[in-house]
Amino acid sequence: MKFLRFKNSQQKPVFGKYENGSVLEIEGDIFGDWSATNREHDYADITPLAPCLPTKIIAVGLNYEDHAKEMKRTPPEDPMLFMKPSTAVIAHREEIKYPAHMSGRVDYEGELGVVIGRKAHMVEEKQALQYVFGYTCINDVTARDLQAKDIQFTRGKGFDTFAPVGPFIETETDPADLRIRTSLNGEVKQDSSTKNLIFSVPELISFISKVMTLLPGDIIATGTPSGVSPMKPGDAVEVEIERIGKLENRVGL
Ligand code: MG
Repeated sequence: MKFLRFKNSQQKPVFGKYENGSVLEIEGDIFGDWSATNREHDYADITPLAPCLPTKIIAVGLNYEDHAKEMKRTPPEDPMLFMKPSTAVIAHREEIKYPAHMSGRVDYEGELGVVIGRKAHMVEEKQALQYVFGYTCINDVTARDLQAKDIQFTRGKGFDTFAPVGPFIETETDPADLRIRTSLNGEVKQDSSTKNLIFSVPELISFISKVMTLLPGDIIATGTPSGVSPMKPGDAVEVEIERIGKLENRVGL
């Protein structure tokens, strides 16, 4: 199933179930109790919100060998974790704000996002996928110059609007081998598969859950393949993942 969030005709944020271009409005919380209503909307008529509201986004650095190579780094022995704040989240078609007051180089990073479905603490790899609600597209927008300048990634990864997510959460796909592509102004820049992840989705969930408790709606950004490059104000960026959807955003000032 594909879930999304949007504002209904009363301007109230609600969840919806997407199928073939139409959206069935949901009553309740997809992470708890919910039921479908009979209110149907044309997908073209709604404005998607971010499909969930994570308490935190745990991102994984250097999780594709070819990307580690382009960054002139050796892949780490353990998953390399950092966090993006919840305030960085924006929706499909919302604008990425270029932080020109601090940065002169802002890159896209197309990534598979894992949306957690239930509280995960000290989870073993074999059970890890039971804690997943579904999968989404995420753009781990990065101020590359600040990432290089600071020891911590907090500033370079944490600006408002630096975590576009969506438009959908797909609950029925296997994350092991999904084609992932990022394009900038229509030109494909990243083209890989999640089969190239160094640490797989179950490995990441297990590892992270042994550091911190993951809560429903939290997102793991699993890392980006090679092909990162800068964006400028006015650019259009798209992250497309097979069977999940296509996340589109523009860069503005
Ligand atoms: Mg990344």
